Amino acid sequence: MVLERKTKRQTAAEPKATQRDSEEFEQTLRPRLLSEYVGQSDIKGHLLISLEAAKKRGDALGHTLLHGPPGLGKTTLAHILAREMNAQLKLTSGPAIEKPGDLASLLTNLQAGDILFIDEIHRLRPAIEEVLYSAMEDCALDLMIGKGPSARSMRIDLKPFTLIGATTKMASISAPLRDRFLHQFKLSFYSPEEMELIVERTATILGIPLDAQAGHRIAASARATPRIANRLVRSIRDFAQVKEEGTISIDRVLSTLEILGIDESGLDRTDRAILDVIVTKFAGGPVGLSTLAAALSEEEETLEDVYEPYLMQCGYLQRTAKGRMATEHAYKKIGKSSSHSSSLFS
Ligand code: ADP
Repeated sequence: MVLERKTKRQTAAEPKATQRDSEEFEQTLRPRLLSEYVGQSDIKGHLLISLEAAKKRGDALGHTLLHGPPGLGKTTLAHILAREMNAQLKLTSGPAIEKPGDLASLLTNLQAGDILFIDEIHRLRPAIEEVLYSAMEDCALDLMIGKGPSARSMRIDLKPFTLIGATTKMASISAPLRDRFLHQFKLSFYSPEEMELIVERTATILGIPLDAQAGHRIAASARATPRIANRLVRSIRDFAQVKEEGTISIDRVLSTLEILGIDESGLDRTDRAILDVIVTKFAGGPVGLSTLAAALSEEEETLEDVYEPYLMQCGYLQRTAKGRMATEHAYKKIGKSSSHSSSLFS
């Protein structure tokens, strides 16, 4: 099963070669050990104990569910856990598994201790999800052979394995599936200090020195997300190299961020368009997700998974039962008066 994985902040129109290039680039930069994985210290602490216990027992690691916005390090963590457990990692994604038989063949091909990583696990179809229940709980597959009155069920034993599920939408995971994960970790956005460490690490791997001020500014502009930090360092490096500069300077960072349309808080053109549309077309909200997506010609899922988490984290956007609302902070950001909205925030 080949993982068809569109990196979340790429557009559907992005050519395949560019996607492949981005994935190779991500592979080069992935931390290989837990000690190289910056931040998320609570999760790392918990995992260190689980790893040690599993190794002592000679057992597979408990099934683990990782959730959080794209680019925060869920796939990276799965690679690290496989390496730490000296296990093989098989990668797939919810939408790539089309039939229960696809999942059955993935599971029966796992060796003892192997890790199966299912990205976007919330997108598994219910019939496929059910196959996972007995696999996770009893290390066995219950399959129905045939149809109608002659149908019979067959049980196949599996080797002990670890399922790592990743999701950007915890609320879309059914309770029976969620409850079968021993560990459930929510990845958080990274602090400015952690982002600086990631930016420095990336620049070192890419072999381009970075001025302190430049590193600071890139870190602040990367939406508290390592994947974005990596992309920014790469773009700025390209601009610096074209200009035959051997070091990334603050001036090069500022000029590249301007070309990319990224402002001092890390918001890009789409982020600002979201705020602008809510404020100017919908009087600050509340506006429903589908209406907002139509007004912006964006997919609902992209708005919800990619843009909104950071806008909410920065306090520009609120999700309410009635829809999305711009905060006073958002009005300031786009330079509009919030006078008519003061009652909303009082
Ligand atoms: P997700 O699976 O959550 O979408 P990834 O694991 O693919 O995110 O991470 C994207 C990139 O960000 C990786 O290639 C890696 O280089 C970088 N990265 C993610 N988390 C960390 C971290 N904690 N420390 C350093 N780099 C990280």
